[in-house]
Amino acid sequence: MSFKSLGLSDALLKAISKKGYETPSAIQQKAIPLILERKDVLASAQTGSGKTAGFALPMLQILNSEPALRQRPVRALILTPTRELAAQVQDEFKDYSEFTDLRSTVIFGGVGANPQIKALRNGVDILVATPGRLLDLVDQRALTLSKVEILVLDEADRMLDMGFVRDIKKILALLPSKRQNLLFSATFSKEIKKLAADFLHQPVLVEATPENTTVEKIDQTVYRVDKALKTDLIIKLISEGNWQQVLVFTRTKHGANRLSEKLEKAKITSAAIHGNKSQGARTRALSGFKEGKVRVLVATDIAARGLDIPLLPHVINYELPNISEDYVHRIGRTGRAGASGEALSLVSLDEVGYLRDIEKLIGERLQPKILSDFQPTETMADVKAAEEEKKQQKAHRHSRGRNAQPKKPAQAKNQGSGRNRGRR
Ligand code: AMP
Repeated sequence: MSFKSLGLSDALLKAISKKGYETPSAIQQKAIPLILERKDVLASAQTGSGKTAGFALPMLQILNSEPALRQRPVRALILTPTRELAAQVQDEFKDYSEFTDLRSTVIFGGVGANPQIKALRNGVDILVATPGRLLDLVDQRALTLSKVEILVLDEADRMLDMGFVRDIKKILALLPSKRQNLLFSATFSKEIKKLAADFLHQPVLVEATPENTTVEKIDQTVYRVDKALKTDLIIKLISEGNWQQVLVFTRTKHGANRLSEKLEKAKITSAAIHGNKSQGARTRALSGFKEGKVRVLVATDIAARGLDIPLLPHVINYELPNISEDYVHRIGRTGRAGASGEALSLVSLDEVGYLRDIEKLIGERLQPKILSDFQPTETMADVKAAEEEKKQQKAHRHSRGRNAQPKKPAQAKNQGSGRNRGRR
């Protein structure tokens, strides 16, 4: 099947060919004709499935076939859970609309509102937004939503997980009741189905991958490993495998920072990305990772949501997520665009319950490999020795501060043993 046979206009076909896409993905083949028929759509699609083009292309075609309104009020609104996803969706809209007269912009929190307000005043046809900033700017009367014809909830499951349900309801109340609604979600929980029932009008259900199952091309490996040895194992896997682009998931922001620091000490370039980082830091980390300057990106689930990193060969779960659906999202980062990928999970004893839940969700048994002969790597031993040395030096400084005469012999002995341990 070709993009042309989906009924897309020449202006869009030109942009698609400029992007280098040859055939529409499964979700695109199913969703594009339905959206062009102006149906409400409830789509199950993961990041990496091509879902963005799946809604952006038909939306652009619809908007481009209508005469532009004089003041260019927003006619299409796309809500996303995170700033990163909003920026990526907008980038795609910009690329696909290059040969049309349509304008799009993006608004999200964490950065100054003034440039966003200015862009809105100039008039835009398509607005990509995170819910909080959108409501702020509506309150400031920087935009009106009364002319919205098409609404998209992208990664709707994540929006609910992040507690956006009230914001979404407020936004829905600001839109005209006659409009086309599209809901995209990687997983279909009861809550998503309820949201869909509340605001979609006789939706057509589109599924590109079976509900809550993992992508077939992904090799999933589980290692049973002591919590204390996880960092050593990650360093060993990355170094010995000579992996150059690895996405690692941790459960907490603090854990992401800690692991990233340890990787850096082991001479593996790394950056952490999570909700406490500024927008600038997140963007820098992501672009460094995409350009190959940063070898390992350590992320929490929320921060990683929507990251567009094509052809990611390795994803590691440093800790299993306590929400099983997140496992599906995480490993969906690999094996993209038809390439094969590898997802590794390091599971300590206290996480076995999470593993059972994940197996239930994906309907697959993930037999853990036991690493009986695993020893910390030489590199990690060096890191430990350096840390030990630092501790000793600190203790030394401290004791010098208190006593005029430091206990030299004991100090020297401790330092020596630390170093020797490292070199063995
Ligand atoms: P998405 O699932 O929307 O995040 O898209 C994942 C990636 O696939 C993005 O980098 C898109 O640019 C790319 N993509 C989307 N559609 C196609 C296609 N038909 N052929 C090749 N790549 C595509």
